[in-house]
Amino acid sequence: MGSKIAVSKDLNRTAYDHLWMHFTRMSSYENNPVPTIVRGEGAHIYDAGGKRYIDGLAGLFVVNAGHGRHELAETAYKQAQELAFFPVWSYAHPKAVELAERLAHHAPGDLNKVFFTTGGGEAVETAWKLAKQYHKLTGNPGKYKVISRAVAYHGTPQGALSITGLPALKAPFEPLVPGAHKVPNTNIYRAPIHGDDPEAYGRWAADRIEEAILFEGPDTVAAVFLEPVQNAGGCFPPPPGYFQRVREICDQHNVLLVSDEVICAFGRLGTMFGADKFGYVPDMITCAKGMTSGYSPIGACIVSDRIAEPFYKGDNAFLHGYTFGGHPVSAAVALTNLDIFEREGLNQHVLDNEAAFHGTLSKLLDLPIVGDVRGNGFFYGIELVKDKATKESFTDEECERILYGHVSKKLFENGLYCRADDRGDPVVQLAPPLIADQPLFDEIEQILRDVLTDASKLL
Ligand code: PLP
Repeated sequence: MGSKIAVSKDLNRTAYDHLWMHFTRMSSYENNPVPTIVRGEGAHIYDAGGKRYIDGLAGLFVVNAGHGRHELAETAYKQAQELAFFPVWSYAHPKAVELAERLAHHAPGDLNKVFFTTGGGEAVETAWKLAKQYHKLTGNPGKYKVISRAVAYHGTPQGALSITGLPALKAPFEPLVPGAHKVPNTNIYRAPIHGDDPEAYGRWAADRIEEAILFEGPDTVAAVFLEPVQNAGGCFPPPPGYFQRVREICDQHNVLLVSDEVICAFGRLGTMFGADKFGYVPDMITCAKGMTSGYSPIGACIVSDRIAEPFYKGDNAFLHGYTFGGHPVSAAVALTNLDIFEREGLNQHVLDNEAAFHGTLSKLLDLPIVGDVRGNGFFYGIELVKDKATKESFTDEECERILYGHVSKKLFENGLYCRADDRGDPVVQLAPPLIADQPLFDEIEQILRDVLTDASKLL
């Protein structure tokens, strides 16, 4: 046994030897150090050498209230002493009850029932299973399929991965769960039609959902999964009227609308839930990440009374759950996190500053390599192009050489942790902690400007 315990003081080497990093080409670290973050404070993180970086992605769209909040750490400490663990399997504990009530209070419409998970993918998985059983309980046993958008990411469990619209992420694991169909997303920058008329474009994109429902057969479709602002592909906001039309279509065909808010809830868009920002009421909301600002893991599927009703009758039950779902420590931390949101007005801070964030990032449009800057709240994508006039994108080789080989590395070297991604077209994504303000926006813009200016010379 003793020989297996890491004795090396070299954290980089030990990381490579033992820590299997997620979504990571491990070979790239065989001869290179693994970036290791040891501490966070506000909107900044620090590496093992003491170097400071802007946390331009709030960890992974998670640390919404910012790093280093003692109040959240103390809450976790106290709760672990009082009741470290008890399941919500036919029993309750006070923090899960309080948090469920608090989430129901914030959620739109009649979304009053909270089914806890430990993360986002599990929440999505839960929503699909729940939608299937809802239809079985209400006399429509053939409704099991789901519709989601091309390039959207909805998590890694096999059901959630089926819903995900990124073929390259699914290929190694196929066959996945059958019945998941894709429709176009709302990237108006690359709209095949109505690119200069957002309302017509929104109507067109929403109508593709109805087309898919009719094509598959309304008797077979259980639910539609959509993010308020789609992350993968680079922060696509919904065109005006999009969600209103989707709601209409779902109601007409008895298809449940699931708002996947794993990123967009808890202030990312300046509202407690993303659905509020765009004025629609889904049947279910899936959420996680920002609920505790990452101080402890938790997720949830928040369900409307209407959908929950048949499950609350007679001997019906939703035979589904997770040991750590609604964990007391995480639930307690989430409650304190929501206290902080209210006390400090974090949502209002985002609403007051989103135009400034957008405006500051939009200055980068003067660079030849920046094709589009889009997003909402504190959630932005900057699409990089080879040719601005034609919107020609990078080749695979250019993505490797420029996006990953240069942009991603140089941004980090220059003190900005964020995401360079080519799951759709190449984008740099920003989602800082919600405490970010103009001086931080300016710093982010300056680092991006320097790195992207150099990158355009490599084309
Ligand atoms: N759904 C969306 C929209 C997400 O962005 C993510 C993760 O980024 C997930 C689901 C999966 O969440 P998790 O990684 O917590 O399982």
